Amino acid sequence: MSKKELICSFCGLSKLQTNLLVAGQDAHICDSCIEQAYGIVVEESKKNETGDPDVEHKIAKPKEIKAFLDHYVIGQDQTKKIISVAVYNHYKRLFQKNNKNDVEIEKSNVLIAGRTGTGKTLVAKTIAKMLNVPLAIVDATVLTEAGYVGEDVETILTRLLQSADYDQLKAERGIVFIDEIDKIARKSDNPSITRDVSGEGVQQALLKLLEGSVVNVPPKGGRKHPDQKFIELDTQNILFIAGGAFDGIEKIISKRLNMQVVGYKNSYKISKTEIKNLLSYISPQDLKEFGLIPEIIGRLPVLTYMKKLDKKALRSILTEPKNAIIKQYEKLFEMDDIKISFSDEGLNFIVEKALNYRLGARGLRSICEVVLNDAMYELPGTKRKKLIIDKKYIEQKLSKSNLNILKAAS
Ligand code: ADP
Repeated sequence: MSKKELICSFCGLSKLQTNLLVAGQDAHICDSCIEQAYGIVVEESKKNETGDPDVEHKIAKPKEIKAFLDHYVIGQDQTKKIISVAVYNHYKRLFQKNNKNDVEIEKSNVLIAGRTGTGKTLVAKTIAKMLNVPLAIVDATVLTEAGYVGEDVETILTRLLQSADYDQLKAERGIVFIDEIDKIARKSDNPSITRDVSGEGVQQALLKLLEGSVVNVPPKGGRKHPDQKFIELDTQNILFIAGGAFDGIEKIISKRLNMQVVGYKNSYKISKTEIKNLLSYISPQDLKEFGLIPEIIGRLPVLTYMKKLDKKALRSILTEPKNAIIKQYEKLFEMDDIKISFSDEGLNFIVEKALNYRLGARGLRSICEVVLNDAMYELPGTKRKKLIIDKKYIEQKLSKSNLNILKAAS
């Protein structure tokens, strides 16, 4: 084909009739078609920003969100329900028509209290997976006020940008999970007259992100790249989920409930199970007493808790969720054509040990890793195609491991 015969594959104009014809692999496009296409792209992205009814229809209902969570998170029904509603409302708010006279729906950031390894991060991860939005998981303990050693709070948003492949619009609708929020509590009995670097100052800095404002974000993070251009990120529609163990908050709760943790001396008689479940009575007041500043508490209005995982829950976690730990190991061995199977007694033994180590569900993975490591090293490439993991096998592998130290410590 001679050059003169080149035409725009979209409008059919010949090269001579256009100012510019850009070549693709098997096609060409002229300048005016590029302009038109660009217009469509801008129009579409505006639609999404202001609330495209199609998108609105796609927001899963709370029951659907909970059903999705059920596939991955065992137990914690109360929290799953509360979070499903919070997420639903959050995205409803996002897609509401921008009418000035409308009631303004406030953001429903979430705070989850609960011991380590009870599924707080898992909930945040699962929600992000379901909504197909970027997720950043950050640890509050590394954050400091600007000017101190550590990470500025803005780097939280750097992570979110990275997780969104630097797509600003996507990042602005993402989820941030801030772990260990309890570790930045104000220490009221701190006698130091210098500023509380790791406590209240960080809470103040975080506040800016939580309340929804435009923040200058260093795209590469940190202070190592002083010359980088900042990206302005609006945090108004980012959903923040904070998690923390709040060690010792039970005492505060019980004090508030006017009773003692042990014994029933007071007028309010509370059952043994209720004592075990004190966290379920957690209120904003307790958080304040624990050392979170009222402004932060106000910006995390949805407050919920995770139950301690009991034997039954741990046993289910091993085998039931969509990507249950045991299923993952079975898959790993299957890739080498090896079939591993666990005896019931073996699985129960793993649960017992995890309870001993007091690591919640995290203990399950550590134990499995120790138990299966030898086999994962030895078996690939050999003729052995079957392995049965029973209590005896587990006992033998654990007896050689460092995990026993944990038991001694607990
Ligand atoms: P947390 O954030 O509360 O410390 P994680 O969510 O990180 O705990 O949990 C650690 C691991 O334990 C998860 O990857 C998951 O495999 C498992 N896990 C914890 N809680 C649950 C649960 N309720 N249901 C299913 N798996 C769980």
